[in-house]
Amino acid sequence: MKKVTIIGSGHVGASSALYISEKRLANVVLIDVVEGLAHGRALDSVEAAPIRHYDTRINGTTNFAEMVDSDVVVVTAGKARKPGMSRDDLLKINAKIISSISKEIARYAPNTIIIMVTNPLDVMAYVALKVSGFALKRVVGMAGVLDSTRFRYFLADKLGVNVGDTTALVLGGHGDSMVPLPRYATVSGIPIPELLEKDDIDKLIERTRKGGAEIVSYLKTGSAFWAPAAGVAEMVECVIRDKMRILPCSAYMRGEYGIEGIFVGVPIKLGKNGVEEIIELSLAKEENEALANSASKVKSIVEKLEDERLV
Ligand code: NAD
Repeated sequence: MKKVTIIGSGHVGASSALYISEKRLANVVLIDVVEGLAHGRALDSVEAAPIRHYDTRINGTTNFAEMVDSDVVVVTAGKARKPGMSRDDLLKINAKIISSISKEIARYAPNTIIIMVTNPLDVMAYVALKVSGFALKRVVGMAGVLDSTRFRYFLADKLGVNVGDTTALVLGGHGDSMVPLPRYATVSGIPIPELLEKDDIDKLIERTRKGGAEIVSYLKTGSAFWAPAAGVAEMVECVIRDKMRILPCSAYMRGEYGIEGIFVGVPIKLGKNGVEEIIELSLAKEENEALANSASKVKSIVEKLEDERLV
């Protein structure tokens, strides 16, 4: 049986454990620094197993050594922004958390694939790569899968069609500057510009860009976790089962799309070695500009961390 460790047993981490178990992908180790949290979430989840018919194990622990020999390590650990805390404060706090976790991963699971989830996503993936010293392909970030599933849901809802028939591709950094590509969004292979007016497409794009904020505005004290966890499980499945699916994920760029030295969301082939290939599309001028703009936002945050010697 394969083994997946999830570091951070909060909303996204615990939900990811459940989805991974329901897909019978692997035994799961849930880790958290809060005493009892990972144990409680793991026990609660596994007590559903007899009804939900999975026989994989979920164990909760505070001991990082228990990730030993994991095939995949998912990182969802971090702090949420509190009133009075700036984005910069949060950035530094999460960078320190991800840095210390990355050292533990390198120590206990040196051959694993890291799937980063903690925000700011593309920057935290960079921290994990640099601190772990892993090969570039073995660190990958989850964001485009979430942004694309949101786009697909909004599209299906608007057109009154089955969600299963939709595809979408959202590139760029995970944030307001993300780049949904309508000409690569389809319903049963039909590009959506054939099905919707430009105004309607623009509204879908805007809603996708603000998809995270829309959920926060309802929940007030937390952010989305079911759809993000579904995105995590989709990516874990690709790695565990070597599916070689093409998905939009955050990958380290070495000149693709004219972007160098940072993580940004692009279509990749995801398999047992992690990022097996970055797919380079020929983008239209305005799409390229939007991607470059999104990448420059990621780069400026990375530079801020480097200036402060936090990575
Ligand atoms: P949460 O607060 O519910 O859970 C975070 C957990 O991390 C907490 O249980 C906390 O105790 C734990 N933690 C903190 N420091 C730790 C450490 N050093 N080691 C182990 N565990 C530690 O938050 P959440 O809603 O689960 O979100 C988790 C992260 O995922 C946040 O950064 C959030 O912004 C991000 N997120 C990203 C996406 C995406 O698309 N990439 C989507 C949703 C959420």
